[in-house]
Amino acid sequence: MAGAPKSHHMSNELDLDVIVVGAGHAGTEAAVACARLGARVALITSALETIGQMSCNPAIGGVAKGTVAREVDALGGIMGRATDLATLQFRMLNRSKGPAVWAPRSQCDRGLYRRAVRSLLEQHPTLHTVQGTVARLLMDSKGMQVLGVETLEGRRFGARAVVITAGTFLRGRIHIGSDTQIAGGRAGDPPATHLAQQLEQLGLTVSRFKTGTPPRIDGRSVDYSRLERQESEVEAFDFSWSHFWNAQRRDVHGKTRHPEQMPCWITFAGREVKQVVQKNIDQSAMYSGAIASRGPRYCPSIEDKIVKFPDVDRHQIFLEPEGHDTTELYVNGLSTSLPAAIQLEFLHAVPGLEHALMTRAGYAIEYDYYPPTQLDSTLQVKSLGGLFFAGQINGTTGYEEAAGQGAIAGINAGLRALGRPSLVLGRETSYIGVLIDDLVTRGVDEPYRLFTSRSEFRLTVRQDNALRRLAPKAIELGMLRDPEVAAVDGRLSDESESITIARQTSVRPSEADALLKLAGASPLPHAVRIAEVAKRQGISLSDLFAAAGVGSILSREAVMTAELEIKYAGYFERERIQADKLRRMGHLALDPELAYGEMRSLSYEARQKLLAARPLTIAQASRIPGVSPSDLQNLVLETHRRNGLSQTCQD
Ligand SMILES: Cc1cc2nc3c(=O)[nH]c(=O)nc-3n(C[C@H](O)[C@H](O)[C@H](O)COP(=O)(O)OP(=O)(O)OC[C@H]3O[C@@H](n4cnc5c(N)ncnc54)[C@H](O)[C@@H]3O)c2cc1C
Repeated sequence: MAGAPKSHHMSNELDLDVIVVGAGHAGTEAAVACARLGARVALITSALETIGQMSCNPAIGGVAKGTVAREVDALGGIMGRATDLATLQFRMLNRSKGPAVWAPRSQCDRGLYRRAVRSLLEQHPTLHTVQGTVARLLMDSKGMQVLGVETLEGRRFGARAVVITAGTFLRGRIHIGSDTQIAGGRAGDPPATHLAQQLEQLGLTVSRFKTGTPPRIDGRSVDYSRLERQESEVEAFDFSWSHFWNAQRRDVHGKTRHPEQMPCWITFAGREVKQVVQKNIDQSAMYSGAIASRGPRYCPSIEDKIVKFPDVDRHQIFLEPEGHDTTELYVNGLSTSLPAAIQLEFLHAVPGLEHALMTRAGYAIEYDYYPPTQLDSTLQVKSLGGLFFAGQINGTTGYEEAAGQGAIAGINAGLRALGRPSLVLGRETSYIGVLIDDLVTRGVDEPYRLFTSRSEFRLTVRQDNALRRLAPKAIELGMLRDPEVAAVDGRLSDESESITIARQTSVRPSEADALLKLAGASPLPHAVRIAEVAKRQGISLSDLFAAAGVGSILSREAVMTAELEIKYAGYFERERIQADKLRRMGHLALDPELAYGEMRSLSYEARQKLLAARPLTIAQASRIPGVSPSDLQNLVLETHRRNGLSQTCQD
């Protein structure tokens, strides 16, 4: 690899407003956001082939994360569009709960996803992709303002703003077992060392986190007869609203939207796996002391699961296809930093994998991140003008968390470069707003991922209404093209029209009878407004529309959102009142001796963090990373209850 770059003249090859460094999930969204604002942007990344690469599991979405993917999409982003082009298995999580908390998740064809991201980027005329490893930032003479970047290859580019989205690459160090360490940003990719050194020299505080990934196997070596098969859900689902105006549902190459669906396979790690892991635990990079930094609590390694839950005899494993063009399978649930030979040994102890061939070993990686309290709410570094950070570099984990930050950092870098006012999303508008607010106000003490409990607006901020919440902002900023604006208007007016029709049209007993009987509800005494009947449990608005012969041309998803607004109006109002109340409760005193360990209504994470910090007020508790609004709400209840109880005792 080349040494530190030498000075060259600033390149005039590209006249740029913004430079985005890194083309993972944050970088690609940042670049698209800039381009949509009309800014000229270069996306500089170590290898063009790895644009949009999923470093770990090949899936987008899930609880809270699926909502973020749709929020990014509502802002004109690419994650949802690429997912729709690459989905090989779809499931709506939480379907057994109400539609207000449904969470879409797509497993993707890894190669298709990457190619979709790249071709979606290339649709933007002011966006240029450049292969190069950025070695340093070019600063003004006072070292306060960023002027551009220089690559290891010696190319220099100037711009008004730079967004760094280097993911796990900054001083990345891969561990496979306690004595195998490889410098790397991800398996197969070199780390970014020069840039990491310079960022530290610029006076930024730096810290380390770790994460891990499981081994992959060759599907031809699996005994499928011993596995449970899981099919994709048949119902078509689009992460992106943009297909709305593309009636043929075809991608940029004219291909149809979803590729053929593929099954997943379920098995488990049982007692035998436990024994192998326990016997070799001192060879795990994470347990031998080779890695000291913290990893993602909610993506534990198999070592973690076995050490922390020794009584559990079965850990579920999903074998997920990597793509249509390969037999390789991702072994979801067996993330590890044990030596490769031990990985093979425990793989062979899994039912169905007795003869599995390991195509890639699992590994853990340690990397630099920059505690995000050094950023303002636009994701700009407070001490360095024009420099923005987004993604894993800010201490988060997950593709969607990275994409959400990328979109906001990109928008703000673009706005700054164009001399326009910045955009900050409030917590009540989006999960992206919650994520960024949590990062810049509380910071992180372990890799941060989103959950619904992190938001005090869990019912009103949903995956189905992302477009209503965020597309108007994108339109206001001029980020959507005319046909896209027309599509958004169409979808949103369908929603309003559904509500109007429901309020103004009555359904007759004879029309609704069959429906009500099916739902076990009592028959109507006379004609009743559809909106009233739709409030009943188990009765859907679209069925009522069909029974009354109205609303047939309205979009199905718009009718679903309208239904939620009608059915749960009371809950939504209560949520708003509770969020307000929590804001006003900051002064409420907390007993420093509180027995947090016994408070089962708090999450395990919150109990641990509160025990360690022992805050004196709710406001202090709310600034502890990992203590969520739902924990705070439960803490207020507990405190009120205890105050009530102790008064009774004193009486
Ligand atoms: C081994 C491993 C395991 C993981 N496990 C999990 C998990 O269990 N759960 C989970 O949610 N997430 C996991 N992740 C994290 C997930 O991959 C990231 O959260 C997500 O990819 C972050 O997106 P990003 O855009 O911030 O960075 P990345 O996707 O890492 O992209 C960074 C990009 O920057 C480029 N780059 C870096 N430095 C430079 C430079 N100096 N110049 C030019 N280009 C540069 C890289 O080439 C790459 O394109 C894991 C990641 C790894 C590597």
